Amino acid sequence: MAETDSRPSNFIRQIIDKDISQGLHTNIQTRFPPEPNGYLHIGHAKSICLNFGIAEDYNGQCNLRFDDTNPEKEDIDYVNAIQQDVSWLGFDWHGEVRYSSNYFDQLHGFAVELINKGLAYVDFSSQEKMRELRGTLTEPGKNSPYRDTSVSENLALFEKMRNGEFKEGECLLRAKIDMSSDFMCMRDPALYRVRFAHHHQTGDKWCIYPMYDFTHCISDAIEGITHSLCTLEFQDNRRLYDWVLSHITIDTTPHQYEFSRLNLEYTVLSKRKLIQLVEENHVNGWDDPRMPTIAGLQRRGYTSASVREFCKRIGVTKMDNMVEMSMLEACLREELNSSAPRAMAVLEPLKIVIENYGDEEVENLTAANHPSDETMGSRSVPFSKEIYIEAEDFKEEANKKFKRLVLGKEVRLRNAYVIKAERVEKDQQGNITTVFCSYDKDTLGKDPADGRKVKGVIHWVSASRGVNAEIRLYDRLFSVPNPAGAEDFLGSINPDSLVIKQGVVEPSLIDAELQAPMQFERTGYFCKDKDSQDNKLVFNRAVGLRDTWAKMDQA
Ligand code: ATP
Ligand code: MG
Repeated sequence: MAETDSRPSNFIRQIIDKDISQGLHTNIQTRFPPEPNGYLHIGHAKSICLNFGIAEDYNGQCNLRFDDTNPEKEDIDYVNAIQQDVSWLGFDWHGEVRYSSNYFDQLHGFAVELINKGLAYVDFSSQEKMRELRGTLTEPGKNSPYRDTSVSENLALFEKMRNGEFKEGECLLRAKIDMSSDFMCMRDPALYRVRFAHHHQTGDKWCIYPMYDFTHCISDAIEGITHSLCTLEFQDNRRLYDWVLSHITIDTTPHQYEFSRLNLEYTVLSKRKLIQLVEENHVNGWDDPRMPTIAGLQRRGYTSASVREFCKRIGVTKMDNMVEMSMLEACLREELNSSAPRAMAVLEPLKIVIENYGDEEVENLTAANHPSDETMGSRSVPFSKEIYIEAEDFKEEANKKFKRLVLGKEVRLRNAYVIKAERVEKDQQGNITTVFCSYDKDTLGKDPADGRKVKGVIHWVSASRGVNAEIRLYDRLFSVPNPAGAEDFLGSINPDSLVIKQGVVEPSLIDAELQAPMQFERTGYFCKDKDSQDNKLVFNRAVGLRDTWAKMDQA
């Protein structure tokens, strides 16, 4: 198992250690707050491992809370997929799944409290007017003409908003803070807007919906969250987070801490862009094995342990950076090298006829499931007169570096005999269609008796007993390291991100479990795909045996 078991250390854990040692908290509570407007991606995995990992290590609790304040963009399918992904990653949330919408009544009450305190008002300015009055980073904003409406009038107007008496966009409830603040988010931010939208949890109960900044801090406080961890783009909003909590009547005071988001090379991690990839059919759905989604990684053959290990290795800091894709791949490769059972599959079949082997004979040879782990046992692999080898494993002529099959020379078939290539048959275009060979029957599991040295070992599959399989070779979805940096990210989609081969696999793979990764000897790590049917097996390549991109980057 490649997963390291040491506890991570990072600036957030240092803050928690200090809070505990100073007696500020005895019980640590975190939350993971996804918006159900898309599938989770590897960036979310970083946040999940951080929040759930802290709860685990400090004997605390981590809530799963859907931040569901944008009903038009959200969907119950996303709610379900997100829960599955968090579970697959190996984490249990505390108690029931929570929703910000659980707190809509309380949130409404706190909005009324702010109005009563003269700290919120209903604004009917047009969008253009509001933008104009907001000012810029270098210029202070100006007060809205609605800012000094009386408390009683604001209460009545907010009630009308709630009762559906205003149109969408006609008015907003805004906090009354400071139009000249250096922080744009403090210039009388919106608290509530009108939306006549059906909500996946609350149905048609509401036609006003609270904004993220108002909702998030209050939800944290209601749940007794002690450390509210989010990504750096919310750094400024921490002022608003603290402002709201200090002006309403609520007991607990959670604190927000920000860390840098994960950026990963050769992919995009913005939900907006991921949705575009799916909706415009650049990929085959959210769980396309090329997608950086948790569902895609899982289908590709990633294990949850390898994803957790990756999150551990990248660490948690306040520094923005771009993580190499090879780091994620290495986590999987390292784990599977020791844990994945071996099997034989030929991706580009070339027929071999062993002329001195019995026409009808079939032997069941024994193959170890792992070269160095006997506890993984062995399986039976049928051997027959006609077999397939990888087309690239045969050459009519080659120098000594080519340790595979060459005309007139010998090679060992993995788990089987030594064969010698005697002659070839070609089609009219000169392509080799069959290689006729002889085998040395005294070489099963031992070297030739007369001391002949046979260096190369190649894999093979019985032609009569092997099973046809579609083999999907996946590569990076984008051909440039930072596709999001380009004006049109779709322009750099890697045209070879999916290459389909019609191969042959050993018959034991008919019973392979879906998504259980294995090594196809000499070609990479693969898993059976859910598109497999009884008469058509489909395998996905999770990752190759070596980092082929590292070589290319140097070239
Ligand atoms: P996107 O920008 O892709 O739309 P988001 O931040 O809006 O993502 P949410 O569903 O709101 O998506 O995210 C839930 C949690 O996951 C938040 O706390 C967010 O900060 C965190 N998160 C999202 N993307 C990343 C990332 N790339 N790296 C680390 N954490 C992330
Ligand atoms: Mg968000």
